[in-house]
Amino acid sequence: MTDITNPNDGHINALGSSVTSDLFQILRDGRPRTRTELSAMTGLARSTVALRIDALMRLGLVGPVGDAVSTGGRPSSQFAITASGRVVLAVDVGASHVRIAISDLTGRIQAEMGAPIQVAEGPEAVLGWVETAARELLEKLGRDPGDLLAIGIGLPGPVEHSTGRPINPPIMPGWDRFDVPGRFRDIFDAPVLVDNDVNIMALGEREHAWPDVDHLVFVKVATGIGSGVISGGYLQRGAQGTAGDIGHVYVARGADVPCQCGNRGCLEALASGPALGRALREVSLEAVTSQDVVELVKRGNIDAIQAVRQAGRDIGEVLTTCVSLINPSVIVIGGSLAQAGEHLIAGVREVVYTRSMPLATEHLQITQSKAGPDAAVLGASMLAIHHALSPENIEAMVVGASI
Ligand SMILES: [Zn+2]
Repeated sequence: MTDITNPNDGHINALGSSVTSDLFQILRDGRPRTRTELSAMTGLARSTVALRIDALMRLGLVGPVGDAVSTGGRPSSQFAITASGRVVLAVDVGASHVRIAISDLTGRIQAEMGAPIQVAEGPEAVLGWVETAARELLEKLGRDPGDLLAIGIGLPGPVEHSTGRPINPPIMPGWDRFDVPGRFRDIFDAPVLVDNDVNIMALGEREHAWPDVDHLVFVKVATGIGSGVISGGYLQRGAQGTAGDIGHVYVARGADVPCQCGNRGCLEALASGPALGRALREVSLEAVTSQDVVELVKRGNIDAIQAVRQAGRDIGEVLTTCVSLINPSVIVIGGSLAQAGEHLIAGVREVVYTRSMPLATEHLQITQSKAGPDAAVLGASMLAIHHALSPENIEAMVVGASI
């Protein structure tokens, strides 16, 4: 497992205090190793390795995993990361649902819970439920709140990543600049990471289906349209955290179509679920949401199929520019409208493969999300795990525990 949200590797400071995290980063791959092997890999004295392993064991992050016979014939303990030693809380807040999960340190979900809460009910209604549900799940697993190593939260709006505050989120009244990490500060003794839902879906999709792919764009097509960009192995948030916000890029076909952002001709005003619903109502079909449109497509309605395919072409037009800019090897189409299946993907492929340079599309895969509805909660787990197990955080925990 590599840290894909933080490009900074641990550095050895004047006191050499990053040696514990260096040891831990070696053990993160899950392979058991002896003290002697770790000593050889790091160049540290065996006694130093023993002290550092003890510190990681006290934190519940590393444990013995049976014995190997050493060259001298005496048993010599092996050590590995303890996946279930500590846990993280993953929170997926959608427009009309909240889902939480407790995951182990490999991201495997141990327990989960959901509720149909509208994000527009405000932060207290949503985060209050999260607090109560998290306590219930921890209790059900026989866990203490102190076992929580970090909390990852995805929100359906723009988030200032450095502070975890949503900024002018259009569908989240009452949430503007709300201190989301602060809501949990006195309740759980764990860092809180907050990001927008599309970024965490990109992380979740990569973890679930494309662990070896370093250049991936995840496109969510639902009530809104947005994308999460992983480039060079790292999630790209840009200067203010709005990288990948493709919903309000201009598409010529929609020049006269007003968008809720105040502009005209936005991709979202043409190709989102509600936009397709509006177009289908003009031909006397009953459709409002993405789900209504997907239902019509599944029933074989020709107007709905053509509308979805055209939406794919419009999305493809914007993605052609993305392909030129960042040269991804995988484009994943997710979100509720992606359940319309091949019709949407076919429209995207039609335009991207025709309009991009051959070298950029030679190995480019354009495909439906494999993680599906789990992408967000998986990604929120990874957001928490990558932070919690980063060299800086491991070092801080070791220092904190020894005071
Ligand atoms: Zn717009």
